[in-house]
Amino acid sequence: MKIRAFILASPIAFFPLLASPQQPVEPPPSTVVKAARLLDVIKGTYIENAAVWIEGERVKEVGRAAEVEPHAPKNAKRIDLGRVTVLPGLIDCHTHIMARMESGDEAYVLDLATKSQAFRALEGAFNARITLNAGFTTIRDVESEGAGYADVALRDAIQQGLAEGPRMQVATRAIAAVGQYEPFGISPDLVNFPTGAQMISGVEDARRAVREQIGHGADLIKVYADWRNPTLTVEEMHVIVEEAHKQKLKVAAHANTAEGIKNAIAAGVDSIEHGSYASPEDLKMMKANGTFLVPTLGVVYALHDAKKYEAMNPEQRNRRETFRQNMQQILQLAGSLGVKIASGFDAGTADGQGKNANELVALTLVGTTPLQAIRAATADASELMGWQDRVGAIETGKYADLIAVEGDPLADITAIQKVKFVMKGGAVVKDDLSR
Ligand SMILES: [Zn+2]
Repeated sequence: MKIRAFILASPIAFFPLLASPQQPVEPPPSTVVKAARLLDVIKGTYIENAAVWIEGERVKEVGRAAEVEPHAPKNAKRIDLGRVTVLPGLIDCHTHIMARMESGDEAYVLDLATKSQAFRALEGAFNARITLNAGFTTIRDVESEGAGYADVALRDAIQQGLAEGPRMQVATRAIAAVGQYEPFGISPDLVNFPTGAQMISGVEDARRAVREQIGHGADLIKVYADWRNPTLTVEEMHVIVEEAHKQKLKVAAHANTAEGIKNAIAAGVDSIEHGSYASPEDLKMMKANGTFLVPTLGVVYALHDAKKYEAMNPEQRNRRETFRQNMQQILQLAGSLGVKIASGFDAGTADGQGKNANELVALTLVGTTPLQAIRAATADASELMGWQDRVGAIETGKYADLIAVEGDPLADITAIQKVKFVMKGGAVVKDDLSR
């Protein structure tokens, strides 16, 4: 009430209050960022003594400092990062930014039962900030895990400068077969208990769900082709793909079983998420159709994490090592066939959020080179998102999304887990380098 009286009495004071939160932090008109070296992810080579000239949100010129600097305006802001490696802002193609679940079997049900949509949105805002600070300037969120359309709200709030986070494509609720996705084991008497995805049965149900999600702001559609066994039918997924593609949106399919993967590819999806039991036949179909694989190797990463490794019993270690070897075979075959790979850490727990770079380390644990892992989280990821015109490389005309790390990430990929500097759209969001 007091605030209202103040506003009514002071119309002039009111306008800045209204306007200021809507204004994103304006990047300076011209900036030159210099560093000892910069990775050209397309060529796979370093530019030594590099500079990036940025105009507003976008890259104007990139190359050796001796060539770029004379072209930039004299009054441009200069940021000299010193002896670091600059890379494009990273991209995670499979994350759940709205989820901060605890570990354990009951976590999913508890999240749905105890957290309001408003609280989930605030959790998402926190996750978005730490993800951006970890160097991920773009994410593809593949399902809000029971947070409804809060991912649309978060994406829009970030765009408007109301919250800090990566550029986002969001899948909203995801689509699964009735009874074939979280939460499991709920009493049938709890008829309105919230669900982790939009549950459908039949072709017209599928069509309605995808239209509804697009209407509410989805940038892509996520489907569950299987859980433990195949779930949605090819026909159901086919109408989902048809409706999504009509609106120029892509479809990501959760699929682990050889049959589920085959069904999803036959329906025309754009990416297979996880793909843990992809058969050679599946991979050949993926190559033929240009379908991406997003292998989500978070489980494999645990083998590299000393604390997590210590906590595992011998049986768990064996199971994970078997899984690692299996994924190594799949990725080797995918690599030799030319199937495109994009990085996605599948964050969804409180301790997984902001650790998206672990996925790049995990990719190298199954035989990928550091450069291939970086490409899976930059140029190749931007292609899966259909955003290769704006992100994924430091090139003229693209967003000035840059990160810097100490050391040589092509020699030691773990450098990517310790990002020291983050710039998004020409604005510095993290700087642990300037003294
Ligand atoms: Zn996931």
